[in-house]
Amino acid sequence: MKLIDGKQLAASLRAEIAKGVADLKSEKGVAPGLAVILAGDNPASVSYVTAKEKACKEAGMVSREIRLPETVSEAEIVALVRELNGDDAIHGILVQLPLPRHISDKAVIDAIAPEKDVDGFTPVNVGKMLIGERCFLPCTPHGILKLIEFSGMDLKGKHAVVIGRSNIVGKPVAVLLSRKETNATVTLCHTGTPDVAKFTREADVVVVATGRPGTLTGDMLKPGAVVIDVGVNRIPDETRPKGFRLAGDADFESCSKVAGAITPVPGGVGPMTITMLLWNTLESARRALA
Ligand code: NAP
Repeated sequence: MKLIDGKQLAASLRAEIAKGVADLKSEKGVAPGLAVILAGDNPASVSYVTAKEKACKEAGMVSREIRLPETVSEAEIVALVRELNGDDAIHGILVQLPLPRHISDKAVIDAIAPEKDVDGFTPVNVGKMLIGERCFLPCTPHGILKLIEFSGMDLKGKHAVVIGRSNIVGKPVAVLLSRKETNATVTLCHTGTPDVAKFTREADVVVVATGRPGTLTGDMLKPGAVVIDVGVNRIPDETRPKGFRLAGDADFESCSKVAGAITPVPGGVGPMTITMLLWNTLESARRALA
């Protein structure tokens, strides 16, 4: 069994991105700029935003952090996004989700100019991805594709099963895997699928993104299958300094005995999500300065 090392792949891609940033700076005198908006102080969101800002700076990009109180209004965030849309120093806008309950995620995301939507969440980018036009691919699904490629699997003609149909992971992964250039045959499972194991046992690749630890177990896999575990679940654990440990949606112990390759949690999909965010931000700056 091979461990698909997301940290290693992310490090090599980030070195490539840092070189691209340095070249852009010397050719055009401009560093790509990413604005990160965080409303409130949800601990998971704070830690994601901190990691994104750090990665951005390490790649030589400019990170503009905008931290807002939990009480900020929807109109204020939308106005801020519109201001950033018109700011030439900013090439990517990221709004950390979920927003506080009184704010509509959709209203804020819809306000982001598609050419600065480096998360790939706006309806324009999602639509372009679906019909195969040039767009910013959503970061986690894009990272998942890179990880499968890195595992050594050629997806052409293979059967891929995606478990979970969220707009940010499951659905876009299924779309990307079924594009002609990738050419996998895709089955998308969800809570309405009576027998998920019936499909996963025939799969060459399983992508699990349910937010439920233990969704995928070794007995549900075909020997040698590639497993991409997207889940990030905090499991209470008094023996750990933070009082919890992280677990994926796949039961690592049983899956790793049957799979040919598997991503660990942490250290698999997570580092790739941030990497593809940097990738899109560099691409956005290149397009703006072309
Ligand atoms: P989500 O919006 O909650 O969607 C979960 C999906 O899984 C839903 O479509 C749900 O089906 C389906 N599902 C839940 N339990 C299932 C089961 N037992 N069998 C089959 N399908 C099941 O979650 P998400 O945003 O896609 O995130 C999924 C996981 O990935 C979470 O742990 C999240 O933290 C993690 N994540 C990680 C990264 C990263 O960078 N590493 C990025 C994004 C998300 P229904 O539609 O029928 O309800």
